[in-house]
Amino acid sequence: MTDTKVIGGKTIARWKQDFPILAEAAALKEVFWINPHYTSGSEGIENRGVTPAEMDGAADRLTRFAAFAAKAYPETRDTKGLIESPLREAPRMLEFLKKEADTNIPGRLLVKCDNLLPIAGSIKARGGIYEALCHAEALAWEEGLLKAGDSYDVFLNKEFHDLFAQRELAVGSTGNLGLSIGIIGAKLGFKTTVHMSADARQWKKAMLRERGVTVVEYEADYSKAVAGGRRQAGPDCHFVDDENSKNLFLGYSVAALRLQKQLEAMRIPVDPEHPLCVYLPCGVGGGPGGVTYGIKRLYGDAARCFFVEPTHAPCMLLGLVTGCHDKVSVGDFGIDNKTCADGLAVGRPSSFAGKVMDALLSGAYTVSDEHLYYLLYNLAELEDIWLEPSAAAGFMGPARLHTSAAGKSYLKNHPCMDKAVHIVWATGGGMVPAKEMRRYYDQGKEIAAGFTRSRSR
Ligand SMILES: *Cc1c(COP(=O)(O)O)cnc(C)c1O
Repeated sequence: MTDTKVIGGKTIARWKQDFPILAEAAALKEVFWINPHYTSGSEGIENRGVTPAEMDGAADRLTRFAAFAAKAYPETRDTKGLIESPLREAPRMLEFLKKEADTNIPGRLLVKCDNLLPIAGSIKARGGIYEALCHAEALAWEEGLLKAGDSYDVFLNKEFHDLFAQRELAVGSTGNLGLSIGIIGAKLGFKTTVHMSADARQWKKAMLRERGVTVVEYEADYSKAVAGGRRQAGPDCHFVDDENSKNLFLGYSVAALRLQKQLEAMRIPVDPEHPLCVYLPCGVGGGPGGVTYGIKRLYGDAARCFFVEPTHAPCMLLGLVTGCHDKVSVGDFGIDNKTCADGLAVGRPSSFAGKVMDALLSGAYTVSDEHLYYLLYNLAELEDIWLEPSAAAGFMGPARLHTSAAGKSYLKNHPCMDKAVHIVWATGGGMVPAKEMRRYYDQGKEIAAGFTRSRSR
């Protein structure tokens, strides 16, 4: 029915013929794709609309705000006001993946535990909070409240709160970005409105309302919620634009500088003989895109970044394979955007992130909802790491890289895997209520039992 629709000058039927992986994705199959546009060397990183200097500027801004965060959020005291998460090894999960893939996966497996990020319990505590702080800083300068040399704990003072109380923040979200903007917005004093898509979990809305945030609910998906936020934007209302914001992207990119320090502290080298493979769950693309930009800027070709999406919402994959970016949606390929991975339930990718990733991303793959629960359950059992379904998506990456036809042929040209470090970005789950988490776990357990039964037959 949709196959006669024309995107980028070609019918959907023609796209599927020319790129069989699109037909597989449309059939909701799990796929693994290597990016033919990958650009090596400095050419990949230059002239992408973001610069290393901007990334360093974002890191400096977060350092300035550390004095504020340490006071406002006592849980950041250990990191001296930096919002950062642990990097830990997951050897039992690696053994599990080897068994699943029925193959050796050389190297080490580390987990970047963004589920434990303070304040918002997800990767959105990077970009979302950064953008809110940027805006607060700019307003404080404009109004003459901030002076050079001030310690940023002044942002907790009454006159700052009073200033922000006359201003609004708005955002459209599937849940986690709304949580992070709502929490920081309320703390600073902004009148904050979060436009939530139908996928957003009830408890996320309740948590925001408790903090005095206005939550507008939509029957439709994420793009409608974003459109609602965009309509609200105006002179007194800053709209956090998840589909286009460079500040969000820069906030995420700082993660790479922090990761570099953690790898150094663990004495883990990254160079052509010791490649770093990173697996990042992707929704609209800003979060994983920012992190990838930062990592590629620091490590160049020694780092290989892969995005993962649900089989029911592979918007970035469609955008990159067709080169149509935000001009193509999963609906165009007859895909329903219905997934348990609420953080990734996005039908159309960010054009900004997509265009940067076109040169920098090594590949992308998709995972079924069933596998998300299965991974979530096993990770909890084996490593005591508790994630939301979206955040578990990365774990299938090392296995797929070694078992899929595309992955195997990629590895032929990218040797030294025996000294590789695989980092799976665990993007969220820290704020999931215990009861909800139990349901995720039980569902994964049931699926695991089903797999065991069918294998023993
Ligand atoms: C938002 C989110 C992502 C992806 O970030 P995008 O910027 O939408 O690509 C991944 N995992 C979780 C848990 C998220 O909340």
